[in-house]
Amino acid sequence: MAVAMTEKLETVYQQIKARNPGEDEFHQAVREVLESLGPVLVKHPEFVEQKIIERVSEPERQIIFRVPWQDDKGEIHINRGFRVQFNSALGVYKGGLRFHPSVYLGIIKFLGFEQVFKNALTGMPIGGGKGGSDFDPKGKSDGEVMRFCQSFMTELYRHLGEYTDVPAGDIGVGGRELGYMFGQYKRITNRYESTVLTGKGVAWGGSLVRTEATGYGAVFFVREMLAARKDALEGKTCIVSGSGNVALYTIEKLQQLGAKVIACSDSNGVIVHEKGIDLPLLKQIKEVERRRISEYAARHEDAKYLPGGDVWDIPCQIAMPSATQNELTGKDARTLVKNGCIAVGEGANMPTTPEGVKVFLEAKIAYGPGKAANAGGVATSALEMQQNSSRDSWSFEHTERRLDSIMTNIHASTWETAEEYGAPGNYVLGANIAGFVRVAKAMLALGCI
Ligand code: GLU
Repeated sequence: MAVAMTEKLETVYQQIKARNPGEDEFHQAVREVLESLGPVLVKHPEFVEQKIIERVSEPERQIIFRVPWQDDKGEIHINRGFRVQFNSALGVYKGGLRFHPSVYLGIIKFLGFEQVFKNALTGMPIGGGKGGSDFDPKGKSDGEVMRFCQSFMTELYRHLGEYTDVPAGDIGVGGRELGYMFGQYKRITNRYESTVLTGKGVAWGGSLVRTEATGYGAVFFVREMLAARKDALEGKTCIVSGSGNVALYTIEKLQQLGAKVIACSDSNGVIVHEKGIDLPLLKQIKEVERRRISEYAARHEDAKYLPGGDVWDIPCQIAMPSATQNELTGKDARTLVKNGCIAVGEGANMPTTPEGVKVFLEAKIAYGPGKAANAGGVATSALEMQQNSSRDSWSFEHTERRLDSIMTNIHASTWETAEEYGAPGNYVLGANIAGFVRVAKAMLALGCI
């Protein structure tokens, strides 16, 4: 029976691949989930009869639009905007916007697909979606970023709404970009509809802890994985890839919980600081000055800068991939395991290649996939929506406690699901199955829509 189901899943996967040509990242994300689902279909034949897998892999709606804007010299540029409204069985479409030159439909669909199951794992009433543009905010003036964001929102606004679709940030989209987009939405609609975007500035409807949430949440997840193995973060040597929002607040929480972070990176190179990363300096360079991390080594005499270096070559006990998809390969995974790494918590979306995932699972280290480990960002977005809807704002402590308990629950449910399906400690299986079953049950209940 189980074998037949695996064949069935292979056939479905091949159909999805053929139907979405050239979208490699989307194929990878679908394959990874489908590989976990064999035993679920044996237990729930109704999911097969009702074609839940075929339906869940087809976005409900995909919007692609032109984004024209003028740079400071008056020259016109044309970018492409996307919003993929993937699944609304559990709630409004929810997920970030990514501005990065690598963005194309396949990236947005992989992110949207992952988001559906991630959001389900939070236990909150949010469906999944994702969007963005191939616009590169790097090196652009504030005025250029504002004009781009206004043009982007001038098209996107008609597809959004508190009860329809609620975007947030992702790579290249932070408080500045969300501010410009919220301003334009408000102007066009003549509504102060706070709940239409999350990750807003605290002064204009944002939630405390949202900035920190993805990084903090990933660290809480790692803390739980270690606790399940009767271990703790205190005194552990860690490396964090990236130096954006997720990486900075991963470093902050690791340090608060007594771990030592000795390296981080950007797309140009790696900094290694054996005494431990000086976070206030790193934040100043990245958040205030918006510069590259090579600047950190220039201002800190005991730090080393490795141009073009691979952060995964630095020996550590805990690795937290917090940059982007497929940044950690099979070779990197083997290096980490060989160097004594005992836990990996993914703050980024799908940062480990399928070969790398296999290495971690075979080595039986504590491996927390992004879907589970980085769900704290979107979960706190849902908390921001709750505060906006009730015209309330919660304290930092209260919001962080809520985030902590959501992450602790995600750990417990992925752990228990893995045990239930005979794969103790396999959070990949646990996350895929727990997320999928929640969405699939809701889809069944809502009928063939
Ligand atoms: N972009 C984040 C993610 O990958 C957050 C999405 C949100 O807050 O809606 O989950």
